[in-house]
Amino acid sequence: MSESIEENLLYWAKRTYDARMVPGTSGNISKRGGIGFYISASGVCLGDMNVSDLAFLDMEGRPLNMVKPSSEKFMHLKIYQKRPDIEAIIHIHCPYVTSFAVCRKEINEPILPEFIVNFDTAQAGAAIGDTMVNDNKAIRGIPSAKYALPSSMELAEEVSEHFKAGNNAVLMENHGLVAGAKTLKETFYMLESIQAYAKTYFAAKFLGEIHKLNDEEILKIKNLKG
Ligand code: 13P
Ligand code: ZN
Repeated sequence: MSESIEENLLYWAKRTYDARMVPGTSGNISKRGGIGFYISASGVCLGDMNVSDLAFLDMEGRPLNMVKPSSEKFMHLKIYQKRPDIEAIIHIHCPYVTSFAVCRKEINEPILPEFIVNFDTAQAGAAIGDTMVNDNKAIRGIPSAKYALPSSMELAEEVSEHFKAGNNAVLMENHGLVAGAKTLKETFYMLESIQAYAKTYFAAKFLGEIHKLNDEEILKIKNLKG
């Protein structure tokens, strides 16, 4: 028997918590379904969720059940409204990743081939064609949305505009990071890859000098694709 949306959400919520990306009751998770989207309840720990901790909203943000939705419901809603291809969203407060947001530093240094493959310009938007990828040696990485009050409409606008521009992961200054993809599995793997980058960055910085891959090496990595 196939898995329900609810079971899928609870499974990936627990995986996110177990990966130490959402300490305490921080973070939230959602998935499109039916005429709207399911989202974690406000104030719930993602590692301890039950089906009764899932709110259901329509695509205008109106409640379709009695569960109090995450305070970041507008952020999830705006991303879904602006990106029809995104069907699953996870917002995290992973300390390693959030450190970048606290230092207002983007995650965009070409230090790991895997990161270049996952977060280069081609990944970042349908408007950017393959020809440009071959010409462009820079990696776009993960941009940072300007600080805005958590749960505010201003934050939802700031973050969703970065998604509209084609980014699938966005840092939130002094707060955390949000990522979206077609499935929760894909979203979670993207988050794990970002978390690995952040941890590697800190360990490398402690160990010695960070060597960035050069333009030629970046180009060769990009051309490995397809
Ligand atoms: P909620 O528990 O309301 O989802 O809030 C957690 C959070 O991370 C707010 O930004
Ligand atoms: Zn948050």
